[in-house]
Amino acid sequence: MGRVIAIVNQKGGVGKTTTAVNLSAGLALGGHSVLLIDADAQCSATSGYGIRLAEEEPSTYDVILGQVTPADAARTTMLPSLRVVGASRDLVGAEIELVSVQNRERRLREALAGVRDQYDFLLIDCPPSLGLVTLNALTGCDSLLIPLQCEYYALEGLTALLETVSLVRDSLNPDLAIEGLLLTMYDGRNTLCRQVADDIKGHFRDTVFRTVIPRNVRLSESPSHGLPALLYDPASRGALAYGELAREVAGESGDETA
Ligand code: ADP
Ligand code: MG
Repeated sequence: MGRVIAIVNQKGGVGKTTTAVNLSAGLALGGHSVLLIDADAQCSATSGYGIRLAEEEPSTYDVILGQVTPADAARTTMLPSLRVVGASRDLVGAEIELVSVQNRERRLREALAGVRDQYDFLLIDCPPSLGLVTLNALTGCDSLLIPLQCEYYALEGLTALLETVSLVRDSLNPDLAIEGLLLTMYDGRNTLCRQVADDIKGHFRDTVFRTVIPRNVRLSESPSHGLPALLYDPASRGALAYGELAREVAGESGDETA
């Protein structure tokens, strides 16, 4: 049974999509079968793989509203063991349309039930909000990967997110786990950045991934080429870090701490 991991933080610009694209690539290159589900109407994870859905092509919107199965919506990519369910602008409307739908928080969970056994990992790239689409991801996943940008306001919003997590555990998804907090855009030359990273590690300890993602220009350049950094420039520091994160997530890294 594949593990469903939602990449979530209601703050924008913290590295969710960069993580979704490059972690999915790292897992696929490591020999795992992966389904990446783009649940953000910005479609950045979709375009990060060079995919642009035509008007009539099935997307995450159709999957959440139960109009197509994830299997029918999944698109092949340049990586043989990776498929992508792409997003479209319709997803903005899903936030409103879902309000009046039965079992509105469980739509994605129900949709994924049919494909979970076909993949080792299913990653969901969430939008920057705690709306119904994110709630569907929290209800439909096994665990959360929470990217935190190494800056002064890194933890802003984390309390609200963790409160939402505990509400979801109470009712919709009792087994919801935290996969880990991921420090992103780390710049070791920046004192504040180092301090923030040390504080977060000191406070959250084992909940923080050992792998830290450095600030690296290849990670921001590669989406414009429609490629994950792991294919665009595999030797770049950003690509190497995401390769390491993939091994840590898959439980394959050398010095396992937990
Ligand atoms: P989110 O999905 O949380 O909104 P993104 O992954 O889209 O965040 O990242 C926000 C911006 O920062 C994007 O332009 C992205 O290319 C850039 N970025 C993300 N991670 C890094 C990194 N480690 N180094 C350099 N730029 C990054
Ligand atoms: Mg994003």
